[in-house]
Amino acid sequence: MFVAMKPHATPAQFDAVVEKIRALGLTPHPIVGTERKVVAVVGHIAGLDPDELFGTMPGVAEALRVSQPFKLVSREVKEEDTVLDVGGARLGGEAIAVMAGPCSVESKDQILEAARAVKAVGATFLRGGAFKPRTSPYEFQGLREDGLKLLALAREETGLKVVTEVKDTDTLPMVAEYADVLQIGARNMQNYSLLEKVGELDRPVLLKRGLSATIREWLMAAEYIVSRGNHRVALCERGIRTFETMTRNTLDINAVPVLKALTHLPVVVDPSHGIGIRQHVPAIARAGIAAGADGLIVEVHPSPEKALSDGHQSLTPAEFGELMKQVRVIAGAIGRPIGT
Ligand code: PEP
Ligand code: MN
Repeated sequence: MFVAMKPHATPAQFDAVVEKIRALGLTPHPIVGTERKVVAVVGHIAGLDPDELFGTMPGVAEALRVSQPFKLVSREVKEEDTVLDVGGARLGGEAIAVMAGPCSVESKDQILEAARAVKAVGATFLRGGAFKPRTSPYEFQGLREDGLKLLALAREETGLKVVTEVKDTDTLPMVAEYADVLQIGARNMQNYSLLEKVGELDRPVLLKRGLSATIREWLMAAEYIVSRGNHRVALCERGIRTFETMTRNTLDINAVPVLKALTHLPVVVDPSHGIGIRQHVPAIARAGIAAGADGLIVEVHPSPEKALSDGHQSLTPAEFGELMKQVRVIAGAIGRPIGT
């Protein structure tokens, strides 16, 4: 359930609501938007009548049940879009955020070259994995801390914010030392211990959709993070597994408008993993923006043919420049700027 305060409710009236929630043995989660102040109520609320409990308290506008199983991430509780401020770079809101860079960090020259190239055409975030969860144990597993250090170096030189994957709870403290945004990969979307741990940090999280996860399961995974106190979460549609084998995954474009209606969290599209074929990445990037995504995450490598992972779906810097031109046109057509 949630309790929405009247626009001019006093802090004392708000505190009284929070106190009453605690007295009932429930957990209050204040959600402060610019439009209205809301307290989400989490716990065993079966049999309780929200209106009877809170409806007549001074300063309360309404008290209602949340119809969806996800609560804190739901649009019912918070109507306005969440905008993540990542050290001055924005993710969510009107402007479209572009994240780009190689699948894996491979060397100093590679990451610096990629970072300079994507920055030059308008990306504001640098992606790059230092811990790679690979299907085969014999494939490149990432440069680990050395890779994180190279990402930090690229951030220092370019000002781009770093998005990098955290693979497990053991390495989370190390990754969190370097990352501006913690990426939870598709394979870890339901790693609840990891979700809980990132939920205890004050660091934005990019939560990728599991390979076979429904939208509801994905939102429940986001709820794990937010319910632990970390409200800075964005969702990334990266394609799901279907019967189709001609493409690596099937980017679920439906997820974009469906999520935008169900949740206030920013929605990012990953066209690279979504289709897995370099030549078609720009088309899927354009589709993602046209469908209403708040951001893109795109794999770009200075020499894709030499990449240690995902070269077949990585764009050259020149191809990425072309993609950005096209995306600007689509964004302009729906009245959205590309973030700076
Ligand atoms: C990646 O971003 O390189 C990656 C491993 O993505 P996913 O978790 O979506 O497969
Ligand atoms: Mn990849």
